[in-house]
Amino acid sequence: MYTERSTLYVVATPIGNLADITQRAAAVLAEVDLIACEDTRHSQRLLDHLQLNKPLRPYHEHSDGKAEANLLESLAAGQSIALISDAGTPLIADPGYRLVSAARAAGYSVVTVPGPCAAIAALSIAGLPSDQFRFCGFLPARAVARDKVLEQLTDDRATLIFYEAPHRIVESLAAMAKICGGERRAAIGRELTKTFETLLAGTLAELAERVANDRDQQRGEIVVMVAGQLQRSSGSAESRRVLQLLLQELPLKRAAAVAAQLLGGDKRSFYQLGLQLQERSR
Ligand code: SAM
Repeated sequence: MYTERSTLYVVATPIGNLADITQRAAAVLAEVDLIACEDTRHSQRLLDHLQLNKPLRPYHEHSDGKAEANLLESLAAGQSIALISDAGTPLIADPGYRLVSAARAAGYSVVTVPGPCAAIAALSIAGLPSDQFRFCGFLPARAVARDKVLEQLTDDRATLIFYEAPHRIVESLAAMAKICGGERRAAIGRELTKTFETLLAGTLAELAERVANDRDQQRGEIVVMVAGQLQRSSGSAESRRVLQLLLQELPLKRAAAVAAQLLGGDKRSFYQLGLQLQERSR
């Protein structure tokens, strides 16, 4: 037996390739009394693949709270519930937070059945620093709000991870290049685990241009990753040494731009570093 009574199981499901369902996820789905899901027709396909016949209960965060109340009643009656989303890990840019919170507050056990997550899958193959990362979910659809969020994030030292819709990817990459700097390292994971999986890596300027000129890169499901600020600029002794030498010959703005070109990284961060170096040498 994998399941207990009156327990909520938060179960990750595949992000494309159905073979990525874990053994434990399949066993839990087979045992629970009911499955709470976003789209019953979509989830039925997963159950058909697993040859399971289970009651599916629609659960959306935007509903009026009745869905949570009903599921809590089922837990109170001793039933076990699996929460799944259309793909990947529930609660990660998906519904579930309110239900998990309410179930925990009411004293029920909430158990994780971990598995696929697009953000983690993308980061694991991007070749960007992964010691610190910040999951940023979807950017706002409106340009003004989107740019404001990017401005708040641009100084973060952690690798930034965004989910993005295909019809917005060209504009979003252009905005990221404008706000975070075209030289910043980045990567785009598309259609991960599926037939047309691609991983593009380069600077934000390169990726923005590449995607704008390739309709195929504007299709499917997309994760965008942007290296954190100062990732390469002030971190290394070499960066400081090169910038110091350049500052002896060039004005700060030019020295920062040349350093960014030579070493890779963001010229704004070299500019900031240059300011610090000049301050110290006074
Ligand atoms: N809960 C999911 C997870 O764990 O990754 C994410 C759900 S969110 C509503 C859907 C977004 O995740 C997509 O728009 C895309 O940005 C990203 N995504 C999901 N599957 C993907 C895949 N196979 N390849 C790339 N990105 C994917």
